[in-house]
Amino acid sequence: MIIIDGSEGEGGGQVLRYACALALLTGTPFTIENIRGGREKPGLMRQHVTAIEAACVIGGAECSGLAVGSNSISFRPGRVTPGDYHFAVGTAGSTGLVLQAILVPLMMADGPSRIVIEGGTHAMAAPPFEFTERTLLPIINRMGPTVQARLIRHGFFPRGGGRIEIDIAPAPLRAIECIERGEAYGRSVTALVAGIPFDVAERELKTARKILADWPAEAFATRQLPAEFGPGNALLIETAFEHVTEVMSGFGKLGVPAERLAQTASRRAAGYVGSGAFAGPYLQDQLLLPFAMAGGGVFTTVKISQHSRTAIELIRRFIGIDTAIVEVEDGPCRVAVGKA
Ligand code: AMP
Repeated sequence: MIIIDGSEGEGGGQVLRYACALALLTGTPFTIENIRGGREKPGLMRQHVTAIEAACVIGGAECSGLAVGSNSISFRPGRVTPGDYHFAVGTAGSTGLVLQAILVPLMMADGPSRIVIEGGTHAMAAPPFEFTERTLLPIINRMGPTVQARLIRHGFFPRGGGRIEIDIAPAPLRAIECIERGEAYGRSVTALVAGIPFDVAERELKTARKILADWPAEAFATRQLPAEFGPGNALLIETAFEHVTEVMSGFGKLGVPAERLAQTASRRAAGYVGSGAFAGPYLQDQLLLPFAMAGGGVFTTVKISQHSRTAIELIRRFIGIDTAIVEVEDGPCRVAVGKA
């Protein structure tokens, strides 16, 4: 039984989701205390309960203490069974984060799965659908499995109501190297609005244009979704290279000016493009678990995140795999999974 202090490291929901995935992959039970102890409102939120429930359902696991607000759970894994599953968060909690708890176990299972997840598809502090589809899954697919994602309906905070579908065809995982991103071949900035004034999108693009000043005018576009999908707003900045496509994002929220969220996302995109690294600030922690299950792999990235450091420590505790980080003063960091 592994005992985890959920307030250590990043102290958020990721440690929970990765612990569930690692428990299913290794057959090792765990107890976590001080859940999300590093967050303003600690304890389980609806989204985390759904992710853990999903892990229980696909993995025949038992979990005690599972309730919204709970600060501690014990999770005892069973056997992962592929199949058709449907999970609904019931709020705008992230569908992409529910997937984080079950994707790697299902892509290493002994048969294909089809997963439907309902909730938020474009929510704060979580991967938007486009990141899962265009950034994460192409790399997973290069490792062996075939995982395809479809966005059936957008879901924004606070209403949710989004829906994604994922098809997973497992295959043995291969260790890969993701060092060079290759030639740049495309970039776009899309301001999505649903049921809110259109000028929000225009103001976001105006701000993005100032920061990404050398991007061509045709890279910037607005997209209006049906009002009943909203209210909602997201800014998606995509940079496509030969070997990786990164999607940086910002999400509209009451009280946050459109200019501010556009500025943060655009600066992040500019920083990533200038860095020469393969993985951006969010892809890095999401590569660690599949790489560890492949027995190794190397990638370059921007500054190492606290999410990554937390995931590395958890992986070391569950499967005894170390990860070496080489930080370079003015160049990309190098992360070697499976190396001491
Ligand atoms: P936590 O904050 O502990 O709930 O974990 C959030 C997870 O979502 C981490 O795996 C992050 O890498 C990921 N994440 C957060 N924001 C984004 C974003 N804008 N794009 C992609 N992934 C994200």
